[in-house]
Amino acid sequence: MNITIVGTGYVGLVSGTCFAETGITVTCVDVDQKKIDNLNKGIIPIYEPGLTPMVTRNMEKGRLSFSTSLKDSITEADAVFIAVGTPPDEDGSADLQYVLGVAREIGKHAQHYMVVVTKSTVPIGTAKKVKAAVQDELDKRNSDLTFDVASNPEFLKEGAAIDDFLKPDRVVIGTESEKAQKAMKRLYKPFLMNNHPVIFMDIPSAEMTKYAANSMLATKISFMNDIANLCEIVGADVNNVRKGIGSDSRIGNKFIYPGTGYGGSCFPKDVQALVKTSEQMGHPLEILKSVELVNNRQKSVLYKKIMSHFNGDIKGKRFGIWGLSFKPNTDDMREAPALVVIDKLLKEGAEIVAYDPVAMEECERRIGDSVQYAKDQYEALIDADALIVITEWNEFKVPNFRVMEKLLKNKIIFDGRNIYDIEEMKDNEYTYYSIGREVIG
Ligand code: NAD
Repeated sequence: MNITIVGTGYVGLVSGTCFAETGITVTCVDVDQKKIDNLNKGIIPIYEPGLTPMVTRNMEKGRLSFSTSLKDSITEADAVFIAVGTPPDEDGSADLQYVLGVAREIGKHAQHYMVVVTKSTVPIGTAKKVKAAVQDELDKRNSDLTFDVASNPEFLKEGAAIDDFLKPDRVVIGTESEKAQKAMKRLYKPFLMNNHPVIFMDIPSAEMTKYAANSMLATKISFMNDIANLCEIVGADVNNVRKGIGSDSRIGNKFIYPGTGYGGSCFPKDVQALVKTSEQMGHPLEILKSVELVNNRQKSVLYKKIMSHFNGDIKGKRFGIWGLSFKPNTDDMREAPALVVIDKLLKEGAEIVAYDPVAMEECERRIGDSVQYAKDQYEALIDADALIVITEWNEFKVPNFRVMEKLLKNKIIFDGRNIYDIEEMKDNEYTYYSIGREVIG
């Protein structure tokens, strides 16, 4: 089979590479000439474990290529996947200009039957709009070409994207014709053969499934963060509470770790977009509105603890920050809680030295040199008034507390991810603030 993936970001590049890995011939298209030039030289624009060798291998086998020309890339395509960004509009709804722009391009250049598949996260009803946009361009050309639309939302997680794509919990595919379903079944044959659930459904349900999944996960996070904040007030330890409720299989132990709020390119915008859809449909999802409110509040929790510890005055204080990306194993800083904490601390006149295993370049691109960057995690602590842990990278979990106390001015840690044990903090005589647990020291 031959497919085109339009949009070579996290989703497009990973999906395209993984489809190529299953033997399909894939062309990944992007409007960003520099990105495509780099990819053609084997330079991968994102940090994603395992991606670089897989891209190289499939390029060498001739199954994976990169282009800026949608027109040239679809001459042989059985399906075209739209995997461009769907950023939030000013009112929170998903901005569909890139998706519909691609649909129109497809309509202008298609020369044979194909399935036009939305892989981007798009609101319910978007496939209809995609269909109308393609048809409109075909009509302008007086073409009687036929095509189908399908919805195949992506559930991969950055940092584990390849495994998520190749060994998915499920694949969701919305179709409205047998021909399209047959084409999608062929495309996903290796997944069906390996017994990964491929769930076929109608298109609106497929579109809704993606938003409902992300909203449910965001809800779990906000719920647990709110419980954690209450734990602090009533003298409970959220870690115990987490274990206590997580052992109930109806609740499960995943996604119930409190922290500094969810970030990234998906949860914040998808929650907002579903809230917007629900309002437009006259059935506002009150739960999700609260999920967003709690999350925005949670991003300031560490900052509030810092201000309270230093009696509201941190001018000239120096803070070492460990972790910048919105979660470990990615360089993605979209909506990262670290950005909120940094911004608030800088406004109060603090100095910041930050360290992240892979996201420092991205941080610098976003906020420039308003913070200093350390060459390793320990350098970030030199003369610091406190350490602030924002992202739970593995290498931060078992640090050398003896080395740290020699570097830090004060033995104070603000831990936004609860990665240290209360007992080890007591033993090492640190002043220790975490989320939903007692303050030590
Ligand atoms: P991204 O911003 O990393 O990449 C989007 C790419 O599309 C960019 O390279 C951009 O240059 C390109 N593009 C924009 N307009 C184009 C056009 N007209 N033609 C060709 N290329 C064009 O975005 P992403 O993180 O890969 O997300 C893409 C979609 O997938 C979004 O809807 C997102 O919500 C969804 N999604 C993302 C994730 C994730 O973890 N990042 C997971 C699941 C779903």
